[in-house]
Amino acid sequence: MKVFFDSELVGRYGGRGPRYTSYPTALQFTESLTAGDYRENARLSNATQVPLSLYVHIPFCESLCYYCGCNKIVTRNEQRVSRYLQMLDREIDLQAALFDKTRVVEQLHFGGGTPTYLDGDRLDLLMTKLRSAFSFDASDKREFSIEVDPRTVNADEVRRLAELGFNRLSLGIQDFNPLVQQAVNRIQTPDEVQNLVLAARDAGFKSISFDLIYGLPRQTVASFDKTLETVISMRPDRLAVYNYAHLPQRFKGQRMINDADIPEPHVKLDILHHTIDRLSQAGYEYIGMDHFALPDDEMVRARQSGTLQRNFQGYSTHRHCDLVALGVSAIGSIGNVFSQNAITTMEYEALLENDRLPIRKGIVVDRDDQLRGAAIQALMCYDRLSFQDFDTAHGIDFKDYFAREIARLRPLANDGLVALDATGISISRTGRLLLRSIAMVFDRYVDQSQNDNRFSKAI
Ligand code: SF4
Repeated sequence: MKVFFDSELVGRYGGRGPRYTSYPTALQFTESLTAGDYRENARLSNATQVPLSLYVHIPFCESLCYYCGCNKIVTRNEQRVSRYLQMLDREIDLQAALFDKTRVVEQLHFGGGTPTYLDGDRLDLLMTKLRSAFSFDASDKREFSIEVDPRTVNADEVRRLAELGFNRLSLGIQDFNPLVQQAVNRIQTPDEVQNLVLAARDAGFKSISFDLIYGLPRQTVASFDKTLETVISMRPDRLAVYNYAHLPQRFKGQRMINDADIPEPHVKLDILHHTIDRLSQAGYEYIGMDHFALPDDEMVRARQSGTLQRNFQGYSTHRHCDLVALGVSAIGSIGNVFSQNAITTMEYEALLENDRLPIRKGIVVDRDDQLRGAAIQALMCYDRLSFQDFDTAHGIDFKDYFAREIARLRPLANDGLVALDATGISISRTGRLLLRSIAMVFDRYVDQSQNDNRFSKAI
């Protein structure tokens, strides 16, 4: 099902809201979850023998992109990087000791910051360490991905990433227009990116993903159209098109952006509308929440076969894994526990220096959270929630348990965002663009009357 852009409804429902990469969201994490709780829970999880997914956070970047809202460290300080890697090594040992070696790592993601800030030799050492600590899936089923800043690698280095075992690349593009690139301090040419894409295809990468951002300074519909034209000519398998949230009070680097250069809200909406039309015409399917993929991509197939899920990287095709998080600020999910590592490298390293797991906060998900999370997942991944399937899977009477939420969906149904009938909830073509606002109905923690500025805008 395609999406349909209704400017009036987008204006009305496109306010701030969580992205639901987890439910409850990280805002609910508290320090009452200790490293001891985490250890105990990880040990218990071995009874399930579900496969593992690893997330490794490399926080370093060579230069600052002014729009950035990530947890990153812009540095050239070699000692600082070496010390972090030493502590990461220690954390890998502590975490690996908790999980049975029989549990296979099916999924691995290197994120940042800039994972390719590390050169090939350092990445090689890190992968060798992870391989010896955990049992890596060597089959083609594995999904090992790395975020690549095209400015930090060449074609040979991309080939090296394939030799190290990565089979998916995610390239940070944002915008190809030179004026926009100047305004955000991130200069990279289409030719450089094209060379990397060709090298990646040649090296056998199964999936290449591009990240783009709309709403950046100096963007116009026409300028972004040119970026899209170039992007489409390179045919990435997946695309994520994010909304730029300009919050200079919160993110210092954004103060380098001239407010007057930010496109007006109506221009941003036009850019988004045009992007959706253009990508649909080019054969991309809208997965949901900023993500698009070619019809033969695994993400589209996972959506059809019921194995798609939301996780901390956006959407994922491996539904059943426990997620072990490694590195500063990384978030993990084991069984019914979410946990987050220390946010600053100072604290992260100090804990590991004393051989302590660097877990600082988290939450034990209770039964009600689980049910709400399952409802949100169904709507965000499949645009449909069948009451009967839900009742069978979770042993409740959905209509009874969520009677209040169903009542709160009625105005959204009257506006055409969802359809409600005796069998379930279906999201309409218009509602597909406003998934957060629909999902928020099931969130017991957000105050929907507030336009909570801890969250980015849906559109
Ligand atoms: S956008 Fe990526 S490369 Fe740029 S500063 Fe942020 S984390 Fe670093």
